[in-house]
Amino acid sequence: MKAERSDAFVFFGITGDLAFKKIFPALQAMVRRGHLAMPVIGVARSRWDLAQFKARAKASIEAHGDFDPVVFEKLSALLRYVEGDYTDASTFVALREALGDAMRPLFYLAIPPSMFVAVANHLAASGCAKNARIVVEKPFGRDLASAQALNRTLLEHFPESSIFRIDHFLGKEPVQNLVYFRFANPLVEAGWNHEWIESVQITMAESFGIEGRGRFFEEAGAIRDVLQNHLLQVLACLGMECPCRKDDEAIRDERARLLKDVRTLEAADVVRGQFRGYRREPGVALDSQVETFVAAQFHIDNARWAGVPFFIRAGKRLPVTITEVLVKFKCPTPATLNFYLAPPANHYRFRINPEVVLAIGAKVKKPGELLVGEAIELLAHHQSQDVMSAYERLIGDAVIGDTALFARQDAVETSWRIVDQVLGNAAHLYEYEPGTWGPREAMTQCGPEGGWHDPRPDFTHLPGAM
Ligand code: NDP
Repeated sequence: MKAERSDAFVFFGITGDLAFKKIFPALQAMVRRGHLAMPVIGVARSRWDLAQFKARAKASIEAHGDFDPVVFEKLSALLRYVEGDYTDASTFVALREALGDAMRPLFYLAIPPSMFVAVANHLAASGCAKNARIVVEKPFGRDLASAQALNRTLLEHFPESSIFRIDHFLGKEPVQNLVYFRFANPLVEAGWNHEWIESVQITMAESFGIEGRGRFFEEAGAIRDVLQNHLLQVLACLGMECPCRKDDEAIRDERARLLKDVRTLEAADVVRGQFRGYRREPGVALDSQVETFVAAQFHIDNARWAGVPFFIRAGKRLPVTITEVLVKFKCPTPATLNFYLAPPANHYRFRINPEVVLAIGAKVKKPGELLVGEAIELLAHHQSQDVMSAYERLIGDAVIGDTALFARQDAVETSWRIVDQVLGNAAHLYEYEPGTWGPREAMTQCGPEGGWHDPRPDFTHLPGAM
């Protein structure tokens, strides 16, 4: 049965950073495509009138979107603002009033995580939660126990099919393509297993630091900020089995099933790093033990992946800003073929950010008299001007009740189970110089055989080449 569209969009945290950078531009894009024609109600504490709210929306799209005066006028006509504190019941009475005739509102919570439970409870007590959907921003909990507690509260007021735990990586085109590319190409799927694949590396490198968000980062660290959510979802897309049904749950079933097969991390599987100078950032403790870099080795205990290590690393103040997956194939070496097959072997490389590129690593004969080979990459740049941003895609899906690209309760809790034992100071913290690829120990204690491939902006540096 087709789910009904939401008929009002309510955004908690509308005066905040996420709304300014991502949400207003996504809303204008939705209006442009004809995907948004319902009231958009912002709720926050700032004492703004409607004109100030509209001015903020305009400034946001001018700074971070593609401002279009005609489309913006249409968006502007939909905007409403409710001022109030989230701990105060009267805020929700005012919201109920602002909702008017709306019967199926969509609530988006982009607020301090400590407020999630209070807002959910007030939505229920005020009658706003009836027939509603709720989108919850990350971080979804701080560890397994708090994620379970938050799930319990949300499930008291909303059915699982109405809860949308956002992980914007799942809304990214190139992440969806990981799944599509694997299962739409029999050639790829045929070798996508432990018989052919030696290892998988996922690198999320950021050249910038914490950009004034010291207080936030001190509560998070790299494991909570990106590994437990975004990067484990990428791992799930790379490792999962083919969804065999067409309903929303099929793909979520497979991602969750894969995560259940991932072994719980122990301290020895993880190297944590902190860039030199982090402790001098505003909001950061002078003796902070919070990691700005993490490298970890994962094992998946199932028939497809037995014995294939998956490596993930993520860090701030690294040499580049690039997110990339490298799938390295084994090098079959029957004695007679050694001559042709000398390493590097084949690989797939999926660049997810900043551009979308798929590369297949192969060896070809070097032109000339000698029968010697050289490594090349077959590159496909896969960029489209009109592609939806992850937030536009995910808000649009939540409006129509499509849960496929959101994290389900079991997957979120399993992801926390995987990292739970290495949160905090369980693994040693090493210092690294800004502008380097993290602590040396990430290579010596937690690196793939042959070393990590350090991606560069251009594609001249092939994996396996020193
Ligand atoms: P901000 O601190 O910038 O914004 C917080 C928002 O919550 C503001 O609108 C603030 O209103 C409102 N707020 C906080 N407390 C109250 C209260 N008691 N009553 C009413 N309003 C309140 O946070 P961000 O936008 O950066 O982040 C919001 C959420 O999104 C967090 O969960 C974060 O982890 C997540 N997120 C953020 C990203 C980002 O790039 N910023 C990226 C990914 C996720 P007011 O300003 O009026 O006080």
